[in-house]
Amino acid sequence: MNWDKSTELVERAKNVLAGGVSSGARRGDPLVFARAKGGHMWDVDGNDYIDFVMGRGPDLFGHAPQFIIDAISRDIEKGLLFSGQYEQEIRVAEVIRDALPLKGLLRFGCSGTEVTMGAVRLARGFTGRPKYVKFEGHYHGWSDTVQYSHHSPLDQIGPPDAAIAVQGTRGMAPGSAQDIITAPWNNLPALEKVFERHGDEIACAMMEPILGNTIVIPPKEGYLQAAKELCHRYGALLVLDEVITGFRVALGGAQELYGVTADIATYAKAMGGGVPVSMLVARPEIMNLIGDGIVDHGGTYNSNVVAMSALEAGLKHIMADSEAFYRDINEKGERLREGLRDVARRTESDLLVQGVGSVFANTFTTRPEITDYREFAQYCDTAKAMRFNQAMLERGIRLSSGTYRWHIASSHTDEDIEKTIAVAYDALRAI
Ligand code: PMP
Repeated sequence: MNWDKSTELVERAKNVLAGGVSSGARRGDPLVFARAKGGHMWDVDGNDYIDFVMGRGPDLFGHAPQFIIDAISRDIEKGLLFSGQYEQEIRVAEVIRDALPLKGLLRFGCSGTEVTMGAVRLARGFTGRPKYVKFEGHYHGWSDTVQYSHHSPLDQIGPPDAAIAVQGTRGMAPGSAQDIITAPWNNLPALEKVFERHGDEIACAMMEPILGNTIVIPPKEGYLQAAKELCHRYGALLVLDEVITGFRVALGGAQELYGVTADIATYAKAMGGGVPVSMLVARPEIMNLIGDGIVDHGGTYNSNVVAMSALEAGLKHIMADSEAFYRDINEKGERLREGLRDVARRTESDLLVQGVGSVFANTFTTRPEITDYREFAQYCDTAKAMRFNQAMLERGIRLSSGTYRWHIASSHTDEDIEKTIAVAYDALRAI
């Protein structure tokens, strides 16, 4: 594959953009893209890729879905940003309230980071308590509130029953760690210990209901329910960060899939179909604090016309036949996982594939499954995973760097899936 133009532009970018990119997650990406449509992307050298990054989750319908482009083109004729209410915003909110298991009040935002930050503020405001529980390996954005113990080195995070919160970056408020309690996820005894020690100081426990930021790890049977009961026993709230899972694993997200409703939930990514929009939802008696202005929430661009238009068009598209929509993307995910497992057997590779429906991840390990961050850090060969990603990219398949998370879009075709499995066979042999 010829990457000459990309290589030249990557160098040029470094003179104007810090690190040549606009988000830390993109550092080191070797390609510059020209366009994207459906399941594919094309770089500036004209190479064609089947894309499983899908914007890191938002592109649920694939790239540039025509029905979203049409809706936006139509709706922006009335204006782009009112900083005032309009009927479409209210209409979309009503549809969402009726579709979600958590029957609450909601507020729109633009990114996942701001709504997870808002969720913790709201939990602290409601309970009057200072601390919250953050789980190892989970990622809730890049704010000082949440950027702790994502992928911190094992030798810094302490023992599982007395975990140490490790700041994710230089520059964070030095005192912010004292109000964060970290714990291993999918581990009820560890969480029970945390509540026994700090129960009356904990405002909430916040988690991804399916851990999408450490490969992809499903919750153990009954874990979400038990964590919720534990929170409530100590007067704390359960916050589920559905930024990845919301509108992806089911219309009502992981809460619908597992039959557990949160007290507060956050959404972004798939809900906008590629357009920046996010959402904070909470039980009415909690969310009224924001409604009454007692807990502040703001945002100049919240509920702008492009966001509401994309959201409404996406919801209409799914809800025309939501059962068929999710059956289709889940089946594609299952077929791809099965195909990858099959090529792993045929190449005698230690490739492990795990996930839920249209979101899954690959790693390299001899373990039969990975159930929390500590196992991932101890048993998974990330250097090999990076070599695999590179080998796939060189063969026309684009995978996420860093997260190893694959996203199926409704626009991925059977041919895309078959080709990806065939390419994975070659890539595994090559590495
Ligand atoms: N929560 C989760 C679960 C996420 O995966 C992410 C982003 N990867 C965020 C929050 C932050 O969202 P954003 O990048 O839109 O700020």
